Amino acid sequence: MNIHEYQAKALLKGFGAPVAAGVPIFTADEAEAAAKSLPGPLWVVKSQIHAGGRGKGKFKEASAGEKGGVRLAKSIEEVKQFASQMLGATLVTKQTGPAGKQVNRLYIEGGADIDRELYCSLLVDRSVGKVAFVVSTEGGMDIETVAHDTPEKIITVAIDPISRVTAADVAKICAALKLEGAAAEDAASLFPALYTAFTEKDMSLLEVNPLIVMKDGHLRVLDAKVSFDGNSLFRHKDVQALRDLTEEDEKEIEASKFDLAYVALDGNIGCMVNGAGLAMATMDIIKLYGAEPANFLDVGGGASKEKVTAAFKIITADPAVKGILVNIFGGIMRCDVIAEGVLAAVRDVGLKVPLVVRLEGTNVALGKKIINESGLNVISADDLDDAAQKIVAAVKGN
Ligand code: GDP
Ligand code: MG
Repeated sequence: MNIHEYQAKALLKGFGAPVAAGVPIFTADEAEAAAKSLPGPLWVVKSQIHAGGRGKGKFKEASAGEKGGVRLAKSIEEVKQFASQMLGATLVTKQTGPAGKQVNRLYIEGGADIDRELYCSLLVDRSVGKVAFVVSTEGGMDIETVAHDTPEKIITVAIDPISRVTAADVAKICAALKLEGAAAEDAASLFPALYTAFTEKDMSLLEVNPLIVMKDGHLRVLDAKVSFDGNSLFRHKDVQALRDLTEEDEKEIEASKFDLAYVALDGNIGCMVNGAGLAMATMDIIKLYGAEPANFLDVGGGASKEKVTAAFKIITADPAVKGILVNIFGGIMRCDVIAEGVLAAVRDVGLKVPLVVRLEGTNVALGKKIINESGLNVISADDLDDAAQKIVAAVKGN
């Protein structure tokens, strides 16, 4: 689960990280009061969307101006002007895809005098089984580009989970980022605070890009992106409350209500599979035969008829779906339950696209019988290869 920059900053502030004062707003009317509550003489008007690259992004609407989704304002009048231009407009960045994202919230923040922009993130480094800091002097820009062009400028410091962030770790990070004086003093508390926030809140990513050294020599968290491990949300009610459903895919929200592992994708073959591994293999084989999956979906081991029905409805509700592949290996999951679920959903919503069903395993004979006797126009398949070829052929109309 992702949250907005202003929410991430409030959370990090609670752990003692240095962030500027700021006010989130939802309507342009709130801009003036928000700006007046901050000292000035510089304000930053920041689009709040779950995507990075906002500064270099462009609005689709000409009326929103040419200056991108993060703007420096030198007066309260300018804050008001930018706010009314940006709210409701659609921002396209490197990370949003060409459709862009509508800006429904802004963050009005006190501006900083920047000396240097650095990069700092925390992530789970699986190769060493530890949480690690990834830092670079090349902040404020696309870190993927830095990693590609100048990988030697990215330094990783893995943290021992027992000793946590030690003075030696801080020294390594300070050396990598060339932090001295006041900045090094700030670093001694900032890096342990970021680590504590990461572990206590079960984050999967904490990215500060840029972390800045200000003209007065102190550090400040200028941008913050936080993702949480979805499996841990049950123990963080405070984090759950930060969820912004307008930023999420409607089909994924619906799927989460039924506890289905569903990820929307860009292709046109809807997939209903049991088991994450089989679901991945199914997507791969669809690609192998020249088409693209419309989704990842693992209905799980012990799915009920209701869950299967819900899954089928979510797949068919996607207008991009031009064919459906049901691929079930019945182990704990029984093939007859899948067949009943598919039929129940088809009776409810109809079937307007070709459907290929491959069933194998527990109660397969019963499952096939239910489908064959339903009178539905189902193309049955014997194995994974056969199933993939049949659905790709059906979608391509041959
Ligand atoms: P992103 O483009 O979505 O990553 O948004 P950021 O919050 O990282 O802002 C983009 C850029 O705007 C930063 O790299 C800075 O160069 C600039 N910026 C943001 N806040 C300030 C500020 O308070 N003062 C100044 N001078 N520049 C800022
Ligand atoms: Mg940034």
